[in-house]
Amino acid sequence: MSTIRYKNGLLHVEDVGIHSIAQEVRTPFYVFSSGQIQNNFLEVKNAVKSFNGKVFYAMKANSNQAILKLLYDLGAGFDVVSGGEYQRAKAVGCPGSKIVFSGVGKTQDEMKLALESGIRQFNVESFGELHLLNSVAERLGVVAPVAVRINPDVDAETHEKISTGKAENKFGIPLPRVEEFFRVASGLVNINLLGIDLHIGSQITSLQPYEKAFRKVNSFIKNKNMQITRLDLGGGLGVSYNPSEDKPPMVSELTELIARIFGNMGLEIEIEPGRYVVADAGILITSILYRKRGENRDFLVVDAAMNDLVRPAMYSSYHEIIPVCEPSNSELLPYDVVGPVCESSDTFAKKRHLPEFQPNDLMAFKTAGAYSTVMASEYNTRPMVSELLVRGEKWDFIRKSPTIDDIINRDIIPSW
Ligand SMILES: *Cc1c(COP(=O)(O)O)cnc(C)c1O
Repeated sequence: MSTIRYKNGLLHVEDVGIHSIAQEVRTPFYVFSSGQIQNNFLEVKNAVKSFNGKVFYAMKANSNQAILKLLYDLGAGFDVVSGGEYQRAKAVGCPGSKIVFSGVGKTQDEMKLALESGIRQFNVESFGELHLLNSVAERLGVVAPVAVRINPDVDAETHEKISTGKAENKFGIPLPRVEEFFRVASGLVNINLLGIDLHIGSQITSLQPYEKAFRKVNSFIKNKNMQITRLDLGGGLGVSYNPSEDKPPMVSELTELIARIFGNMGLEIEIEPGRYVVADAGILITSILYRKRGENRDFLVVDAAMNDLVRPAMYSSYHEIIPVCEPSNSELLPYDVVGPVCESSDTFAKKRHLPEFQPNDLMAFKTAGAYSTVMASEYNTRPMVSELLVRGEKWDFIRKSPTIDDIINRDIIPSW
């Protein structure tokens, strides 16, 4: 059961009522449930035990250090995609031996940082990157541990902007060139090629794409007799944004599939869930500013905007919308829910059937814990949104919104 639910007619995160937070904190703000994050992570951690798997949380989904610390203390390692994320992992005390470095465009500086401070593995995505990594490692007099990210050319059947495993996507080495990659790597003294990595996309709601990709990799390893010790199967497990439509597989179904296909190969198996760990543990709270009658539709203008939660504008994604005060009757009205930013894409929902809302009512966008705060911006000079974390009856800020002065003072006007 979710830790975010109504109690006595009021929306709660664990034992904290959102209405009581809203008396002290200005909307919009995010609230995260540490209990829900913990439940999600432990579910994954327990499910990979059958094949002795290791879990590297893909922190790009939500990289607030309070959340990273919580996960690290539960046994998580981290999947990072930039030097900045690497340093975040370090800042919560994670050793390099529990950090995997992914990403298609690693720079020399990022390679140097990770090689000097410790790294479990680089997931390398091109021949150019392999050569550069070798030369950076050579200069430092070390050997870089590497897995090659392959592109299995399967359709993850997800939104095109978050599909990564098709031949047309920029990610990975095409399977037909992977043997060549191993040959080249074996000639590079400062590279230790340990394994194969793949990540076919995000918000995957069916097991089929996973199964297709895994079978291709399995045949490849067996047919070519690849000498590897590690296999990184990436992340991507979807969550239910719209309960009447999204029916993602359960974690245990995914791990049973992994065990079935790779279980007896003696490989060290890694997975990199991001969204699954945090998505349903966060909500965005906003206030209704205006109720406005348009041509054949009613608008609710709210004080959150696309700069606070960009997913609807960027991926046309759906977030369930609920009132903070549970409605007393079941009557629903069609509304367009829009933010104040000067773009028509600043729309959270169109003709959504919702209970009646009035100005100053509080509204919650559900399943807003992943790819939300990390993508927030200050577009329209709207300050970065505040983030709060709840544990039981306690809540605290985990990031405070800056003041407008803070924002204005960041700009530099040259003396000329
Ligand atoms: C984004 C990403 C993940 C996590 O994806 P989710 O869909 O959030 O689980 C894992 N691995 C890599 C390489 C990624 O880029």
